[in-house]
Amino acid sequence: MSNLPSEPEFEQAYKELSSTLENSSLFEKHPEYRRALQVAAIPERVIQFRVTWENDKGELQTNRGFRVQFNSALGPYKGGIRFHPSVNLSILKFLGFEQIFKNALTGLSMGGGKGGADFDPKGKTDNEIRKFCASFMRGLSKHIGADTDVPAGDIGVGGREIGYLFGAYRAQRNRWEGILTGKGANWGGSLIRPEATGYGLVYYVEHMIKHTGDNAGFKGKRVAISGSGNVAQFAALKVIELGGIVVSLSDSKGAIIANSPEGIDANLIKTIAALKLKHQALNVLTSDSDHKDKIKFIEGARPWVHVEKADIALPSATQNEVSGEEAQALIKTGVRFVAEGSNMGCTQEAIDCFEADRKKSGSTCAWYAPGKAANAGGVAVSGLEMAQNSQRLKWTSEEVDTKLKGIMEAAFKNCLDTANEYVPHAEKEYPSLVAGANIAGFSKVAAAM
Ligand code: GLU
Repeated sequence: MSNLPSEPEFEQAYKELSSTLENSSLFEKHPEYRRALQVAAIPERVIQFRVTWENDKGELQTNRGFRVQFNSALGPYKGGIRFHPSVNLSILKFLGFEQIFKNALTGLSMGGGKGGADFDPKGKTDNEIRKFCASFMRGLSKHIGADTDVPAGDIGVGGREIGYLFGAYRAQRNRWEGILTGKGANWGGSLIRPEATGYGLVYYVEHMIKHTGDNAGFKGKRVAISGSGNVAQFAALKVIELGGIVVSLSDSKGAIIANSPEGIDANLIKTIAALKLKHQALNVLTSDSDHKDKIKFIEGARPWVHVEKADIALPSATQNEVSGEEAQALIKTGVRFVAEGSNMGCTQEAIDCFEADRKKSGSTCAWYAPGKAANAGGVAVSGLEMAQNSQRLKWTSEEVDTKLKGIMEAAFKNCLDTANEYVPHAEKEYPSLVAGANIAGFSKVAAAM
């Protein structure tokens, strides 16, 4: 592999997975899985294309588009599309690799993939975004299909972008097919899909809390959240619904920390959702008379070292958003549960801190759940959207939410039982959910391969 350019994010994700497999009894029991890991590390296919589009001034613009079709052993490639200036092949390979095992943990028939472009939707008009999406789909459309590859949203790609992409596909291919998930509710989308990642994250943590013998769930617990996009918004709303206190949110410009003991309320989250649709930053809240007294805005900061006390932390912004020092700061605030709404939200140093603290056991240690298990609710409901599209049926919100709850409960139990089975000296109280998620997700894919 030495003749290839370095891919730091992908190498980090690969090492995180392979180190937990090596430290378990998996390869002793299944020596053939070692070879499967080497094979699984190479994407089945990588598609790169040029995206040219015209801005509102009539000037020609160019971006790079990608789709990494990583693994189809369990089903059609499935995973989001990210539009962000940082997008490159290393980031999409890390995301696609994680997606393989996350999708396996949902129990649904989905392979893993990821795509995107180094396009920055910030500051672009609706018209420019529509033109970009149409051109992006021209590069992508011949490579996807309801039984081939089904993209969805990710950072920078929400309901509006999925709409533009879907419209472009129909116009270009003259077919209505379930080739994207995250569609609007009245044109083939599943109810609860927008909420699913955030809700699923909270459902997963509810099982962690219950496992510790605490039957109060989120009630009265202080929850530090980062990010303010789709995942963070719906996680926060669910936390509030369950009686928890949201103490922080953030974006790329800084963090907001709640001033009052009641925390950030649902009204403020709705205001933030409206801001984010317009690609505005959270700092505008400091001049919003309805909300400015309820929060403190800290420029350029992430919330972790600024929250005074947190029982639960839900990193829900982007990769590597919790460093080793920030993990230590969270442990000092008394954090008991850390679960990633983002993909690879914690650096390896942060994971090592949380895992070391977990091994102390007892009633004060931190317990960490990786994104590939804790945030699997989003892609799980995408899988349910695919099922509804194939049946030409639509399920009610209650039906989808009940299925989502069942999937998150099964994923949690799978992580727990797998850690107990494969990790030597698994701590009886709180087994490693990182090891459990990696071994459970990987062995399902390896067996299928
Ligand atoms: N981007 C989301 C994820 O990281 C959802 C993918 C999907 O629904 O296909 O899991």
